[in-house]
Amino acid sequence: MNPPAAKLPTPALTGPQKALRKLGLLRPIDLALHLPLRYEDETRIVKLCDVRDGDLAQIEGVVTACEVRPMGRRQLLVTLDDGSDTCTLRFFSFYPSQQQALAVGKRIRARGEIRGGFLGRQMLHPAFKAADGELAVALTPVYPSVAGLPQAYLRRAVQGGLARADLTETLPPHNLESIGPGSRWSLREALFFLHNPTPDVKLATLEDHSHPAWQRLKLEELLAQQLSQLQAKRERAGLRAPELKTVHQSADGGLPLPQQLLSALPFVLTPAQRRVSEEIKRDLARSVPMHRLLQGDVGSGKTVVAALAGAICVDAGRQCALMAPTEILAQQHFSKLIGWLEPLGVKTAWLTGSQKAKERRQMLALIASGEASLVVGTHAIIQDKVVFKNLALAIIDEQHRFGVAQRLALRSKLDEGDQEPHLLMMTATPIPRTLAMSYYADLDVSTLDELPPGRTPVVTKLVSDTRRDEVIARISAQLAQGRQVYWVCPLIEESEALDLVNATETHAQLSAALQGAPAYRGAPVRVGLLHSRMPVAEKKAVMAMFTGGQLGVLVSTTVIEVGVDVPNASLMVIEHAERFGLSQLHQLRGRVGRGAAASACVLLYSTGDASRLGETARERLKAMVETDDGFEIARRDLEIRGPGEFLGARQSGAALLRFADLATDTALLASARRLASLMLDQYPALVDQHIARWLGGKADYLKA
Ligand code: ADP
Ligand code: MG
Repeated sequence: MNPPAAKLPTPALTGPQKALRKLGLLRPIDLALHLPLRYEDETRIVKLCDVRDGDLAQIEGVVTACEVRPMGRRQLLVTLDDGSDTCTLRFFSFYPSQQQALAVGKRIRARGEIRGGFLGRQMLHPAFKAADGELAVALTPVYPSVAGLPQAYLRRAVQGGLARADLTETLPPHNLESIGPGSRWSLREALFFLHNPTPDVKLATLEDHSHPAWQRLKLEELLAQQLSQLQAKRERAGLRAPELKTVHQSADGGLPLPQQLLSALPFVLTPAQRRVSEEIKRDLARSVPMHRLLQGDVGSGKTVVAALAGAICVDAGRQCALMAPTEILAQQHFSKLIGWLEPLGVKTAWLTGSQKAKERRQMLALIASGEASLVVGTHAIIQDKVVFKNLALAIIDEQHRFGVAQRLALRSKLDEGDQEPHLLMMTATPIPRTLAMSYYADLDVSTLDELPPGRTPVVTKLVSDTRRDEVIARISAQLAQGRQVYWVCPLIEESEALDLVNATETHAQLSAALQGAPAYRGAPVRVGLLHSRMPVAEKKAVMAMFTGGQLGVLVSTTVIEVGVDVPNASLMVIEHAERFGLSQLHQLRGRVGRGAAASACVLLYSTGDASRLGETARERLKAMVETDDGFEIARRDLEIRGPGEFLGARQSGAALLRFADLATDTALLASARRLASLMLDQYPALVDQHIARWLGGKADYLKA
């Protein structure tokens, strides 16, 4: 037996090593899969007499002048003569060492964009080096990097990774013609090519990723995503969950709980609500855990669908938990569900972070004993101390607002013996089809595609900030009719304090402006204020007063964004609408138009910004005015933002697609999907290899 190895001190990481780590480039394969953003052509030297204005070129010549000039701003001007013509290299910042390297008489190569100017040809801040050594034989890759990680270091690291990585094929030895132009390249060939392309390649095909080598890489990436999700789906199919079936008649001869709930509701379900409820009911009755996403536009009535699912669960003698992203939202659900279910004898518990210790203890006891069969709350629900007696269904509202880690915690927490709970996730941000096929391939999706009847569409208007007076007149008119109004201020990201000042000021201004307004319900108008820094109890109190109708106007930062339901509110004013995201604007707008009254949404933009209103801000506001349809909004939002931001938290970790672009690679996505099911059926060993290569230890994130 060998003596135990002496414990060596772990060498400290150098700056560039730390930077590699930060980029997630740990294994040789990670380095090999770190692909260039673009390339520079150092394989050729171009004669100055042959270049045109705007060309990116490498030139070589002798320095004939080198001087620092204080013209306006200090700058270094270097004249380079290549025998055919001269060119001025201009540097606005430079080190003495660079100045030496560019001394008169030195022979150098410089790379950059050539500009023909008043003073003759010039290059601004070109890359340069001494003209010794051979010319490169391949294009020089430029990699995505971070501060402290020079390209030269990264290039060596990538080449090293490429040499050491295991690049054996993980695609099956199958007829791969159908997967497109990448099929004739092996992974090894594709990677070597992309890191060292020969100069004869059409650069544009590398840059727009249409080159077959790129196609091959994109297919591999999409395949990893599909495999990990379909695998998760199949694994789940092997798990067991409690079968939640409604008994047709309860012991005392009464109707089953879901039926009782239906007959107690003040409305009948829309056909869409009936359809999705059936889908959920079927899932719950199976012994495999449900993993379903319920998507429906704001106001489409998801809560009652959740309540029905809960009723099925409770009827079967098991516990149901409903988790919402904010305390206000949880509170709303709680009062709604209590209103519907407590009269039917269902005991409900309430859990949030801000709860008093005593109340919390009582709630925990109710949950542990099983006395409470329905538990509503915030992420407090997933904390360690919470022990359920027999949880069988977890419902997550606004699922995209929860981080991946939280969703994972929920699932693992609910792991009970050999059984898993059913999971119903709800979202008001509909997922466009391509995203559903890629990022959400492991989910079953139910869609509420119609709104309850009697809603009047919300009219949306873009109004300049200079017309505030008109907006205030409009508010007074609504109040005079006994209606209520939201006024939303943007969250100022950099500073919560500023945020508060902003909301507080608006609140004061509005209160003053509405002083002389006609009475609201026979009393002076009261304006409430709600912002993120208020203590929870205060927030709740203000919200309750607005819901109860005592407050005519509610000034708020985006805490009211999701789920708040006050049907009497008929006007929403959004200040600095240009600062909000599209989905967010749509969510906000969904707070009005919930009753029978004609409702409106006023998007105030600041004229100061109007001329400079960014292109994307303009597109967002335009989309808001043009459509009220959540699916259309989601589609445009995806177009404007791209999938990364659109998906938000689901993508933390390595789950984001780096290479494939869902907007253009739909055909590849379809191929990857076909290939994934074939591999899962016939080549399980390759599946594991492929997932490990592409996702490393991060595959779990995709399954959350
Ligand atoms: P969301 O899908 O945005 O969560 P909610 O569940 O809050 O929507 O429902 C919005 C409003 O519509 C609520 O006041 C709810 O009671 C009401 N509602 C839900 N379903 C119906 C229906 N079938 N008919 C009439 N009103 C309904
Ligand atoms: Mg809701």
